[in-house]
Amino acid sequence: MTRKPDSRHPSRLMAPCLLGVCLIWIMGAGIGTAQGAALRVVVSVPPQKTFVERIGGPHVTVRTMVQPGHNPHTYDPTPHQIADLSHADLYIRIGIPFERAWMKRICSANREMRILDARPETDPRDPSAPGHGRERPGAAAAEIDPPDYHHGQHGEHDPHIWTDPILVKRMADKIRAELIALDPDNAPDFERNYREFAAELEALDREIRALLDQASDRTLMVFHPSWDHFAAAYGLTFISIEKAGKEPGPRALTALIEQARRERVKVIFVQPQFSRKAAAQIARAIGGRVLAIDPLAADYIANLRRVARQIAAAVRE
Ligand code: ZN
Repeated sequence: MTRKPDSRHPSRLMAPCLLGVCLIWIMGAGIGTAQGAALRVVVSVPPQKTFVERIGGPHVTVRTMVQPGHNPHTYDPTPHQIADLSHADLYIRIGIPFERAWMKRICSANREMRILDARPETDPRDPSAPGHGRERPGAAAAEIDPPDYHHGQHGEHDPHIWTDPILVKRMADKIRAELIALDPDNAPDFERNYREFAAELEALDREIRALLDQASDRTLMVFHPSWDHFAAAYGLTFISIEKAGKEPGPRALTALIEQARRERVKVIFVQPQFSRKAAAQIARAIGGRVLAIDPLAADYIANLRRVARQIAAAVRE
């Protein structure tokens, strides 16, 4: 398949019109893939930008919707960001709450833009199921506005799937296939970049496993439930302070303090996009401390390694 030139790539329309449309098509195919415009990709959160850049290299330019420091539950794209979508070739969604509120607007901003749902359909860590594991609830859904959605929170399924590097490898494979479909001339680069990135993700997974294997206390406390996939991958349990998107009231706080004592929790994890007030109250009560870890950091591999080390240190305290 060859990318067809269109008005979104003005550089390719500068071909002399001597032979009319045909020449534009030929020039478009040649320039667009060999030395011309990079694929314009828009993603929802900063880690995705890293994933696409790792595979696309110089053949992609990537923009992120949810800006650093903003909350992906309640983020509202700026009018400029929505207008900018008219230049995009591809939007990669990942299942975070803001998408559900905005996906219709995002799609209607550019009907020709391809939409890739990067969520893996199955759990690659589940060896029990035939093929490649069981269906991940909600993961395959291409739905735009499920009826049970409430803006500002997620239900029982943690949408931060990228905290598990093996799930990222799956997502990277989907990105690889999509980039090849859009820009087949650069397929060898995309294949090579994918293989390198996948090998790094597998190494990171082994490294984190080795770090956390020794931990005797495997229960941790976190304000916002963003690390369920990380916890599931490495046999940890995160008790979430926030329930259904709400801060705990006095009674829930007392119960959490008792639970933290019982489970010998020493560190309460928070993330920069959320309040740390409740976490600080619990930490004071149990004589523990508050530590910030960020699931949205753009430097994905280094960040996840750093988080794993902080968690390993916390469970050893
Ligand atoms: Zn969340």
